[in-house]
Amino acid sequence: MQLLGKEVSEKIKHQLSVKVQTLKNKKYRSPHLSAILIGNNGASETYVASKIKNCEEIGIKSSLIRYDNNVSENELLSKIEELNKDETVDGILVQLPLPKHISEQKVIEAIHPLKDVDGFHPENIGKLTQGNPTFISATPYGIILLLEHYKIDIKGKHVVVIGRSNIVGRPISILLSSNATYGNATVTLCHSQTKNLKEICLQADILVAAIGIPGFIKANMVKDGAVIIDVGITRVEDASAKSGFRLKGDVDFDDVSPKASYITPVPGGVGLMTIAALLTNTMKAYLLRNNLTEDIFAE
Ligand code: NAD
Repeated sequence: MQLLGKEVSEKIKHQLSVKVQTLKNKKYRSPHLSAILIGNNGASETYVASKIKNCEEIGIKSSLIRYDNNVSENELLSKIEELNKDETVDGILVQLPLPKHISEQKVIEAIHPLKDVDGFHPENIGKLTQGNPTFISATPYGIILLLEHYKIDIKGKHVVVIGRSNIVGRPISILLSSNATYGNATVTLCHSQTKNLKEICLQADILVAAIGIPGFIKANMVKDGAVIIDVGITRVEDASAKSGFRLKGDVDFDDVSPKASYITPVPGGVGLMTIAALLTNTMKAYLLRNNLTEDIFAE
């Protein structure tokens, strides 16, 4: 069975649009997400355009700030500072990757933790690690929302995560192993230096692939009945596609899906959930910054 990020993200977006309408009816301003895009990386352009389009669809205000590749680190940091101080901005995201002359760490740390809707700030990562409420990075949060929607049992299961990046592999491994409603799994975190990867994968009840190598996971690496979460998105050249490329996941879908109990497709799986999670975080930032709670929607 496929875990349809498209359907679940549409449901979450609908719920958010109802909330935005309630705010408007009560004469509050709409939540506001500010996105910064540097250069003209095709994939980044697509991601940011999609985030903006989704904001518009549900009534969240968005603004896009664009810079050339040669923008200085100082100019970027000053803009972030300006957005931090802007009372009408609730969430700030800087689309990664950045040009080499700009420190990703400095940029991440410059964003105010309460506006850090991507959940990359060390303060928010620290809270996540300690199991405290925070902005959970959008992709891991999207995966949790998807598993939750399909009522996939996590407790006590063996989860194997492949990939240890700060934006996907590491936070999802922390979340799924934490003592929380949606955690309590036994998690093995694998990476490029892991030995016997195939043998470890074969022990997984739930396999999360966040590697960036298309078709890396084959059926002979997967246990019968495993749940497969494919985070990978790689553009692979394809002359027959209108755009000249197709999006491929880290999992060889046709090979693996007959063995899997549940599997996410690419596209149409985790990617769309990431956007739904980002929008959810933006609403959360809005409520926190305005001293409001979810009760506002119940009244
Ligand atoms: P990254 O390059 O930062 O990390 C890749 C990880 O894979 C590393 O930790 C590395 O150790 C591991 N790895 C590489 N080769 C390996 C091998 N042979 N065996 C085992 N492990 C290996 O990548 P990332 O930012 O975490 O992204 C991973 C993939 O997920 C990419 O395709 C990216 O485009 C995609 N992604 C998708 C979403 C989404 O919304 N679906 C969000 C973020 C990233």
